[in-house]
Amino acid sequence: MYEGLKVTALVAAAGRGSRFGADVPKQFLKLGDRTVLEQSLENFIRSPYVDEIVVIANPDFIGETRELLKQKHIDATVVPGGAERTDSVREGLKAATGALVLIHDAARPFVTPEVIGRVIEKAYETGAAVPCVRPKDTIRTEAGNLKRDELFAVQTPQGFRTELIRDAYEKAGAQGFTSTDEGGIAQNAGYPVSIVEGDYANLKITTRDDMPHETRTGTGFDVHRLAEGRRCIICGVDIPYEKGLLGHSDADVALHALMDALLGAAGMGDIGRHFPDTDPAYEGADSMKLLERVAELLGEEGWDTVNADVTVICQRPRIAPYVQKMQENIARTLGVETSRINVKGTTTEGLGFTGRGEGVVSMAAVTITR
Ligand code: MG
Repeated sequence: MYEGLKVTALVAAAGRGSRFGADVPKQFLKLGDRTVLEQSLENFIRSPYVDEIVVIANPDFIGETRELLKQKHIDATVVPGGAERTDSVREGLKAATGALVLIHDAARPFVTPEVIGRVIEKAYETGAAVPCVRPKDTIRTEAGNLKRDELFAVQTPQGFRTELIRDAYEKAGAQGFTSTDEGGIAQNAGYPVSIVEGDYANLKITTRDDMPHETRTGTGFDVHRLAEGRRCIICGVDIPYEKGLLGHSDADVALHALMDALLGAAGMGDIGRHFPDTDPAYEGADSMKLLERVAELLGEEGWDTVNADVTVICQRPRIAPYVQKMQENIARTLGVETSRINVKGTTTEGLGFTGRGEGVVSMAAVTITR
């Protein structure tokens, strides 16, 4: 049994993300509200096994890394990494003060407490333990298929007695031996490496496709009065009708509901905040242009529209003949296929202010993703 030896978690965040094609290393990309690095560290902060955290940072991003940890009140030592992974981990090992060490890739933010526990217990028992899963795919070389029951996909954190892995790194350094993981370094030095059960969810973020999607929904609601001498513009379609919608802008009630749904889903307030009706700039404004601006605002935060469903409630005018055009207008402005946009009209069976033809109501629901 593990007996409460001091455990250091070494988190390697020295990558540049060159395989990722992003402007910033992948450890700084956002998973929801937090960066990949924060999410990875969180697993070790919460682990009852871990006493100390050392972050190995890319020397070009050491300032950003320290700043992030300070902002989030994460207590960790930050050391600069080297040119290769092997060099980086060697630097991290110098700073580790635990008797056991867990070496983890910052790009694996989904590691569970169970995996961390299994690795520590086994590393304590045998000196070296790596978490693995069976490959789901058949793997072959040009010569033929490999035997699947002999294959393991290796994950992190990998756990070691600190003296063992330091000695292994020393030997590797003397031989000029490198490896893509620490298990390989230990094995090269003649230490047996135990395999413990990993977790398929403990995936490594390598390309953009590996980033999980965040999906949100939003709703919007709006009412405008019908008045004489106004145009009746709904979803950007100028509908011939004896009355029109009254408002500061073009009073496109359906686009207003839709914009509120989009802004709401993104947690960005409502159209009143972005386009105040006290601002003369929006007098008679084309709501299609405002929708374009809302799409830009969401785009700046990385959001794309999955779908939108807009309901227009009025006795008259009839909406059905214009639905196709309305859907096309919205789809074009949001940059999605028309099949993702639904517009429908309904009545209130003559009841209430919509039934009496005094006004038009619109409701919208949207799903967005990033
Ligand atoms: Mg409005």
